[in-house]
Amino acid sequence: MHERKLMEDLMQEIESQASAEGAVRVTRIRVRLGALSHFTPHHFLEHFEDASRGTLAEGAEVESELGTDPTEPTAQGVVLESIEVEL
Ligand SMILES: [Zn+2]
Repeated sequence: MHERKLMEDLMQEIESQASAEGAVRVTRIRVRLGALSHFTPHHFLEHFEDASRGTLAEGAEVESELGTDPTEPTAQGVVLESIEVEL
């Protein structure tokens, strides 16, 4: 399923950035939800809570921005804009 794949890729990216920084925990993430990704901020949050359970990102605050332009190259996906971590 499309959403599942998006979440897998996102969690991989979060974990690799977090471990590159030597983080013990991810405290906050910022994402941009593509206009064609089928995610609303609320729906994304549900998936994130599920996908992050048992990872460094469990319990992280989520700031999400919903894209409105279906023609932008990332419209189908979720872009990780930044993470904040606890070292
Ligand atoms: Zn869903």
